[in-house]
Amino acid sequence: PDLHLSTFKMGDKYVTCVICMAEYEEGDQLKILPCSHVYHGTCIDSWLLIQPQCKTCPIFSDTGVTF
Ligand SMILES: [Zn+2]
Ligand SMILES: [Zn+2]
Repeated sequence: PDLHLSTFKMGDKYVTCVICMAEYEEGDQLKILPCSHVYHGTCIDSWLLIQPQCKTCPIFSDTGVTF
């Protein structure tokens, strides 16, 4: 596991969590994956329980890299 924790601040370049499709708001807890994709901490946690790979990264299914 190599997930970076971050807290969203206005002006950050991240916009939308593609798991829940909500825009980030000030103070949201984010997790940054090794591939630089960013999701809500809670969203990616439940996503990884279902499927141990990044939602938007085809490379992970090819290489078998997991968290
Ligand atoms: Zn989310
Ligand atoms: Zn990714």
